[in-house]
Amino acid sequence: MKIDSNSAISVDSVEEEYRYIQQISCVQCESKGSLKLDLQSLIFEENKPYDKLDCQCQNCGAKKSFIFDISNFFGKLF
Ligand SMILES: [Zn+2]
Repeated sequence: MKIDSNSAISVDSVEEEYRYIQQISCVQCESKGSLKLDLQSLIFEENKPYDKLDCQCQNCGAKKSFIFDISNFFGKLF
């Protein structure tokens, strides 16, 4: 899978990723905080670690994926 590193959201912790998706409004039904994490996957692109969060809106079922740049903390906490 090809990552567009420009669209990756830089975070300093996994908690920050979760907080990020909680404050996102659904593009389809515009309900805020309705996105629920479905699947979390670790991806390496050009030796940089990324977290991909596949989310689904609990209100309308719309799916949305987010890419986070986790190179700030990956390998430091584990
Ligand atoms: Zn929705």
